[in-house]
Amino acid sequence: AAGPRAWEPGYDIPARLGDPVAAIATPALIVDLDAFERNLDRMRSRAADLGVALRAHAKMHKSADVARLQTTRGGAVGICCQKVSEADALMRAGITDVLVSNQVVGEARVARLVRLAERGRVAVCADHPDQVAAFSRAVLERRAATGSSGLTLDVLVEMDCGSGRCGTGSVAESVALARAIDASPGLRFAGLQSYHGRAQHISEPAERRAALAAALALTAATRDAIRAEGLACDRVTGAGTGSFEIEGAAGVHTEIQAGSYAFMDADYARVRTDDGSAPGGFEHALFVLATVVSVPARGRAVCDAGLKAVAADSGLPLVHGRSGITATGLSDEHCNLSDPDAQLTLGAQIHLVPGHCDPTCNLHDWYVGVRHGRVECLWPITARGKVF
Ligand code: PLP
Ligand code: MN
Repeated sequence: AAGPRAWEPGYDIPARLGDPVAAIATPALIVDLDAFERNLDRMRSRAADLGVALRAHAKMHKSADVARLQTTRGGAVGICCQKVSEADALMRAGITDVLVSNQVVGEARVARLVRLAERGRVAVCADHPDQVAAFSRAVLERRAATGSSGLTLDVLVEMDCGSGRCGTGSVAESVALARAIDASPGLRFAGLQSYHGRAQHISEPAERRAALAAALALTAATRDAIRAEGLACDRVTGAGTGSFEIEGAAGVHTEIQAGSYAFMDADYARVRTDDGSAPGGFEHALFVLATVVSVPARGRAVCDAGLKAVAADSGLPLVHGRSGITATGLSDEHCNLSDPDAQLTLGAQIHLVPGHCDPTCNLHDWYVGVRHGRVECLWPITARGKVF
């Protein structure tokens, strides 16, 4: 049998603590710790100014270490997860307050969700009475199995405010669902989720504001109709990096679910605010570090970060900090670069800004935290691949 061995950089881990950036095995996911901390501080103070709670979305990074920093330094009241297995992984790693901001369907998955509610503060969304019935059944079954009569699950009504994904389709449906939750043993009606994913990525501020104005009016009307039934609807949650400034200022949402703000990506860098800056003034803190492995012709270079290292659903990565060099194509293991001035030589390192942070993070095992040119920390991507 193989004996114990030290974790080797380039095999089990991308680098050792204290290594210079040049020693990091590539492709690697790099966090610029200074920029990341500035993003945390910025969001903390923006949320405070707006008077909304921040519940940071951990689907973006899937890391217990990042989540912990968001709830300590970053002032978040808790986190969101999109999947039960993701919430489970992060709760095992010490996170205690999670909203599963999504629909959960299937007996085994619902039972697993209910068991999470024994370990911390857990809430979930619903947009159909059958889900509400399934949640209630699962809580009662778990109560019977464990003898803990106090076990309850917080359930929010998820409304479709215009993005055309999940959510109830009318005010009347939302009201009926809120009443069903309230009337179900084992459940507590915990408020409204109204999230407009599409509007966040509209790059023109006026157009984005118009899309959100309609959503906000519908959200307020839904909240008021639920309250008119005598139900407390104290929590309205939703919004993200591209929209929280508008939703936060409107006074309808009490909680914002931004995720990408912590790292940012090339797609959000194209979203503009009125003064022409990126949303919230957040900076790029996430990079895929890559190495030039071929310079096949003058003006052309190839690096080692392909589709398995950087997601391309929101476009090609940007080459950071080097003017004139652009990514022209991605294949499984390679990224083609245009380098008209032939700046790049074999072995050169470049920093790529991923088009989309969330699916990029899910491709890697580790974050390599860098400060002043040296590796300061390695954070495992705790819930990598936890997509069930
Ligand atoms: N809330 C929900 C329900 C989401 O699906 C997402 C991301 O898609 C977010 C919040 C966070 O959005 P962002 O990462 O753009 O800030
Ligand atoms: Mn995203």
